[in-house]
Order: sequence, then C-alpha cells, then structure tokens
Amino acid sequence: MTSKYTRFDKPARAENLFLQGARVIDPRRGIDQIMNLHVRNGVLQGITSEAPAGSDVIDLRGHWITPGWFDLHVHLREPGKEVAETIATGCMAAMNGGFTGIACMPNTDPPLDDAATVKWVRSQGKPFPVEVHVIAAATRGRQGKELVEMTEIVEEGVRAFSDDGGPIKSSAVLRHAVEYSNMLGARIFEHAEDVYLAEGGSMNEGEWSTRLGVTGMPTIAEAIDVARCVLISEYTGGAVHICHVSAKESVELIRNAKQKGLRVTGEVCPHHLLLTDESCKTFDTNFKMNPPLRSESDRQACWEAFLDGTLDVYCTDHAPHSWEDKTQEFDIAPFGIVGLETALGLALTFFMEKGMGLHTLLERVVYAPREILTQPLPCIGEGEAANLTIIDPTCRWTVSPDDFKSLSRNTPFAGWELTGKSRGVIHRGFAVIQTF
Ligand SMILES: [Zn+2]
Repeated sequence: MTSKYTRFDKPARAENLFLQGARVIDPRRGIDQIMNLHVRNGVLQGITSEAPAGSDVIDLRGHWITPGWFDLHVHLREPGKEVAETIATGCMAAMNGGFTGIACMPNTDPPLDDAATVKWVRSQGKPFPVEVHVIAAATRGRQGKELVEMTEIVEEGVRAFSDDGGPIKSSAVLRHAVEYSNMLGARIFEHAEDVYLAEGGSMNEGEWSTRLGVTGMPTIAEAIDVARCVLISEYTGGAVHICHVSAKESVELIRNAKQKGLRVTGEVCPHHLLLTDESCKTFDTNFKMNPPLRSESDRQACWEAFLDGTLDVYCTDHAPHSWEDKTQEFDIAPFGIVGLETALGLALTFFMEKGMGLHTLLERVVYAPREILTQPLPCIGEGEAANLTIIDPTCRWTVSPDDFKSLSRNTPFAGWELTGKSRGVIHRGFAVIQTF
C-alpha cells in the first residue's frame, strides 16, 4: 500500500481511500458485517464492491473498523510542561492508540480557565485526525474560590468543567459550579477526593501500605467526595461526572444514585481494572497514580460496575511525566501514568474474557463519552463523515514505551504482551494507517 498514510506528524488527506474487506461494526446502526468502505474527501460513500478508479486500496481483511474511539480524560501538558507532552504529541499518541477524539483536563500551567486559552488549545488539534475537546477549569486558576466565565467558555464548545488534578474543595463552590454549568447544558467533572483524608498519601491505605510503610490514602477519601457530589446533584438537579472511580464505596454510591434517577455518571481507567496496590511493593513509581491502585475487592467492584454500566465510560487519565520527574523516590514522585497507547490493546486482551462484549465496550468508549459532552455520535453510513478506528484484533505485540508517540514513557504496562492493536484512524478528512 501507499506509505503516505503512515506519517503521524503530517497525516495524509483521506481523499480517495478504499478500505477493503474489514469487519465493520457500528452497534447503534446495527451493522456488523464484512464490507468495503470508500472514503472520498473524508466522507463515506455508498457501498461499492470494486475499488473506484484512482483510489488508494488498503487491504483490511482480518481487521475491524469501528466508529472512532474517544478518550474522555487526558492530560496534555501544554502550556507549561511541554517536556512531558505537547498538544501535538498528545494527538499523535491518541492516533497511535486508536482515538479520534480526546478531552483534555485544565490543570496546565497556566490552567485552562478562559475562553481564549480554550480556543487556542482546540486549534492545536487542527492538523490531526483527532478532535481536541477541552474540559475547562471550574474555578479561576483552579483555586477553588471563584467560578470561571462559564458562559463565554461554553460558547467555545466546552461542555464540561473540572478542577481535576484535585477536587473542588468547597461544597458551596461545588454546588454553584453544578448549578451554573447545569443552566448552560454542561456538567462538572469531579476528581473525587477529600484532600484532608488523603493528605500525605502516596498509595492506597490498606494491607500493602502498612507492610511497605508508605502513607496511605483511604478509599473513603474518594467516596466521601462522591457522596457530596451525589447529594449536590440531587439537590440542584445538575449533572455530575465522577472521574477515575477506583473504590467500591464510590461504585455503590454511583449505583444508588443511578437507581434514584439522578444525573450522575462515572468513568473507569484500565489500571484500576487490571492492577492492585500490591504492585507498589516494587516501589516502581509507574504504579503511583491518584486515585491510587486499590485492593482486589475494589478492583472487582469496578469490574462489576463497568460491566453493568454503573461506570459509563472507559478512559485513560493519560498523565505524562518526564523521566526526571517520575524517577524519584516513591513518596515524592508525581502521580500519574500515560495511557493513550495501551488502552485499546488492554481492552481487547482482557475485557472480552471478563464477559464484556465488543458492543458494550464501544458503548463505553465511543458513545458514552460523546453523549456526556453532548457531541454528535459518529456513525458508519453513506454521506456520513468518516470517523473511524481501524483495529487489528489478532496482532500480538509487547508494550514497549520507546515506541510511544507520547513524549513520556511512564507506563506500568511495559513488557505486557497484548493481543489487538490499533492500525489507524480516519477523521476530520485525515487518515493515518500503519503498516506492521
Ligand atoms: Zn484526577
């Protein structure tokens, strides 16, 4: 095939592409069959069995094509920490991981707390087949005191506000943030943490923190904030989204809230589904994140909630850190791991055996994130914009951080053998399709 589609830094235009023989899966349209797709100038054409004249034919027999994946929780470090990640390298990591959309968190330096900055960040994604959405800061400077100019920011297309990196500590400010964002059709994303209960902690509080002599963060530090969000959602009628849920108590609170019909949603990250706090026994800081890896019973509770839809979204909390920052003692190293380039492989390797069907997975990673941000949903049909993730479901590969497009390497999954890899993405008129 032509190599023009393999460049990450300058993605080729999807001018006349013929994608041949893939299993095309679009759950919301009821499509799951082997077919050819013809993309002309970024738009899906009617079904043809023959490759149109002049088209770039890409043999995708044995591959899957799904609507484009979306990562609802990503940290790009620009502005402020471009050595760890830039918006461009974050987009390249997203493309390499099979994502056509990402939502980035505002805890940059300075924080993303006004309309002009939001507009600038969004524009940086323009040369890539990745939509960059912004979750703007909820309070000015993420100081937790004064709400941002939500109206102006919503006019830039933002539908979520968060002080992620940390919680909105004041319940009064949180309540007003929920009320105002609700009036504007947006919602608050809360990093659920009682900072006083979690203070000084580097890992989960439990058997392993005791054995290792490391200060722990109890699960209730997360759950107390989840309870506060649920109560505020009930009281105000506003929507609240709980970020990176890790604790069984949080899961119970969200499940009860949903049973009451409240507008509470939640997300889960691969590391909380696949790892426990026992991993910290090596003192490898690639197992240090916030919320921390929890106990086996918390992990099981997250699984149940992910399978039954209590946790609506699969996302990564991609949090790049430079080697210098992360290679410090466990208690002083920063929290966070990269995730964009391993999430798809981890999902395909481990989720099906846990009983999650492919269609359910796509609900959690294609539809729910966009519904939460009130974005149009991608669909595969004639005349629709091509917004696609191409997957090789049988590709066996070993996670090698040196191959990441991200500027950072801080992953706990290095050396893991996975089955299933993204082979490319098509979106916004661009295509990147890899050969391997
Ligand atoms: Zn967070």
